[in-house]
Amino acid sequence: MRILVVEDEKGIANFLRDGLKEEGFAVDVAVDGKNGLLLSRENEYDIILLDWMLPGMSGIEVCREIRKKNSSVPIIFLTAKDTVQDTVFGLEAGANDYIKKPFAFDELLARIRVQMRTGSSEISTLTVGAIEMDILTHTVRKDNTEIPFTQKEFALLEFLLRNKNAVCTRTRIIEHVWDIHFDADTSVIDVYINSLRKKLTTKDGKDHIQTVRGVGYMIRDV
Ligand code: CA
Repeated sequence: MRILVVEDEKGIANFLRDGLKEEGFAVDVAVDGKNGLLLSRENEYDIILLDWMLPGMSGIEVCREIRKKNSSVPIIFLTAKDTVQDTVFGLEAGANDYIKKPFAFDELLARIRVQMRTGSSEISTLTVGAIEMDILTHTVRKDNTEIPFTQKEFALLEFLLRNKNAVCTRTRIIEHVWDIHFDADTSVIDVYINSLRKKLTTKDGKDHIQTVRGVGYMIRDV
């Protein structure tokens, strides 16, 4: 899942980027409103963390511009403003949630997870066949045995599972699992898919990942 962080305070931006990457997210950072808006239009994000007070263009303005384009990407405001009036103002501008600075990283993570599950009924477990992924504890089990996963493998599997039984094009996989620094060498995806296959193929030889020639991949209940 890919996140855009729009935050002008370097310390906070770095803290968020590093923390979110550790959780397996692909993260892009913009340090002002204009760049944030630009990135939000260039890439397909799963969530946007938007600071309120930004140089040039405020978070509120950025939020309004994003909503003008009919984008429904979840937006969480990061704000030092905490009066009821300001909060209402932020939500009216089209934000889905807000969190007051300073905040605990775990609380932010919990709010991100809430936004990401809106629209689908799953809570914290994604499954296919005998494979079970727990988003909160970052564990993957096959036939009830835990299998070690790298962060990228986890992120890729999470994306495939969230789109279970639907084809994920290579472009969408790159958009949602890798960040802006990803170079155009899409064979990296194949390497990760191979490693997922090795780890996930069940004892009876069941491979849930289907290659869709020339398009991408699909994970399905077979
Ligand atoms: Ca700021």
